[in-house]
Amino acid sequence: MKAAFFRQHGGLEVLEVGDLPSPEIRDNEVLINVKAAALNRLDLFVRNGIPGLRLEFPHIGGSDFAGIVAEVGKNASIEVGTPVLVNPGYGCMKCRACVSGEESLCKRFQIYGEHSKGGLAEFVAVRADKVL
Ligand SMILES: [Zn+2]
Repeated sequence: MKAAFFRQHGGLEVLEVGDLPSPEIRDNEVLINVKAAALNRLDLFVRNGIPGLRLEFPHIGGSDFAGIVAEVGKNASIEVGTPVLVNPGYGCMKCRACVSGEESLCKRFQIYGEHSKGGLAEFVAVRADKVL
């Protein structure tokens, strides 16, 4: 798949556009065929490097994206072909904050495009409960 990614932190010079393997989904995830993505300041922070944030390279940024459901994990209840917007923040779903509906207060709260691969690509695997 085509993607915008970087293999190390830095300025614009580290940004590449090229081919990477398409992600594989887990049972609770859906594969999104990205049709629109936006850039925001977080993408610059992540590319430049945030102290304490360890990324798996190559990293694909982009926290704001929308698209079409292309594949559905066996535990996800949404149909292939559904147009969706992704809510990029996700917690562990096990701690008190997550269970009480305050996922953004989770100590392990993460964001697609920051902690895991984001939407500046043709395809992204996301948790099925994170699509609207
Ligand atoms: Zn949690």
